[in-house]
Amino acid sequence: MPGISLSAEVRQFASAPSALFIDGVFARGSGDPLTLLDPATEEAIARFPEASPADVERVVASADQAFRDRRWTGLRPADRERILLQFANLVEQHGEELAQLETWNQGKSIAIARAVDVGASVEYMRYIAGLATKTTGLTLDLSIPVVPGGRYHAYTRPEPVGVVAAIAPWNFPMMIALWKVMPALAAGCTVVLKPSEFTPLSALRLAELAIEAGVPAGVFNVAVGRGATTGTALVGHPAVAKVSFTGSTATGKQIGRAAIDRMARFSLELGGKNPAIVLADADPARIAPGLLGAAFLNSGQVCASLSRIYVERPAYEGLLEALREAVKAMTIGPGLDPAMQINPLVSAQHRDRVRERIREAGAAGATAISGAAVPSSGFYVSPTLVTGAGSDAAIQREEVFGPVLSVTPVDNADAAVQLANDSPYGLVASIWSNDLSRTMDLIPRIEAGTVYVNTHVPVDPNLPFGGYKQSGLGRDFGPDALAPYTEIKSVCVAY
Ligand code: NDP
Repeated sequence: MPGISLSAEVRQFASAPSALFIDGVFARGSGDPLTLLDPATEEAIARFPEASPADVERVVASADQAFRDRRWTGLRPADRERILLQFANLVEQHGEELAQLETWNQGKSIAIARAVDVGASVEYMRYIAGLATKTTGLTLDLSIPVVPGGRYHAYTRPEPVGVVAAIAPWNFPMMIALWKVMPALAAGCTVVLKPSEFTPLSALRLAELAIEAGVPAGVFNVAVGRGATTGTALVGHPAVAKVSFTGSTATGKQIGRAAIDRMARFSLELGGKNPAIVLADADPARIAPGLLGAAFLNSGQVCASLSRIYVERPAYEGLLEALREAVKAMTIGPGLDPAMQINPLVSAQHRDRVRERIREAGAAGATAISGAAVPSSGFYVSPTLVTGAGSDAAIQREEVFGPVLSVTPVDNADAAVQLANDSPYGLVASIWSNDLSRTMDLIPRIEAGTVYVNTHVPVDPNLPFGGYKQSGLGRDFGPDALAPYTEIKSVCVAY
């Protein structure tokens, strides 16, 4: 098979993983057995017991103790920043090892793992590390009338919220874990990370690297296990002050309800059903690669993936033809071969869910145009274009999270905006046109946390990211990225 071979150190690390990283060392879980599979071959990578609710108790106690004795919170911000920058350096130095772990465990392209999961993560880590020394409050003038002549000095202090439960999904396991762990640590919090049961390997390696960088033991802990057991125990733990979750809207609602019961803080980055509006002036040949990249990056397993295109009728036939040709030519194969554009999905269960969505669309009268045949083993779905789907069809309304893209002609931009917004989701959207006036008029009308123009999907640490409507609560990234991990204390001094 063409492509790269896994290094000995990657095989060694994955051979006997532990479910727990607690107080700076690995420990065996005492829960039910968990099997990790290679999505490209369906062969087992490792078997080990998950973290039981009793293990979660221990791991949260470790993070709680570390927060209370201020071994991290009490450091000078400059020291936290220096240690977190060193953590970024170590992730960069071990980049190839981490990329291979990610590809083996998740199925994704090694090229994406190197450039995005590792490359973009390192840049994100450095941006967030720098915020540790830039967190500020406000000074405020007060007008309290009750004590005539009274003088006051008032200010706010952002303080770390406490123990953070970071719950990460399986599509970008390490990168999205870092989107939670880094701002939590930069703000002075301690963390328990629960990666997805399907893709825990990179999270475990990250915890080791954090210790090597100088993060004190107990500050960054990991508990691996299923959402229903390990995840539920973590979210419900009374010492967890904040839950930061990325995943499905259904699970996000469950987590929000559990958190609010005891007023734990929570932020949710959830699903999307992200539309693109293509205006009549767009050149199909020029925009097709961008649209395809947005839809099929990581085989469509991206919360910001493009999944619906609404195109003004004059551009429809040309665009469909360009997309059809490109989809037919896409290469399908294992992630360890960097030439493969479509790789296996994360699990058999997820592959079956995506295939069922395509079958349902066909049964509802839509036409599915598929790419090349998929390999006989591995959790593959051929890239698929869907045309003729009604606006009420499940394929137009529900998140598929696979390599599936619908294309629909519309009479005009008003109709496109109406259809684009006719969704419970509102994560990202894009507009494709060189007509600046029409584009600028559309941007405020679109219900989405990010609107891209002539691009779709890139995220940047300096650009706030999060959803409108049922795509989530709160924003990640940007200069205020630490705010969700702090409480604001108001201080009023009379003198
Ligand atoms: P989930 O939302 O169920 O999983 C995301 C994370 O939450 C995983 O770590 C999961 O653990 C954990 N989890 C699940 N249930 C609980 C719980 N009750 N308490 C605490 N943690 C929990 O996603 P699925 O894996 O079921 O995927 C289903 C769909 O979700 C996908 O098809 C896709 O549409 C969407 N999704 C969206 C993502 C995004 O980036 N917005 C990412 C992943 C999925 P575990 O995996 O171990 O069960």
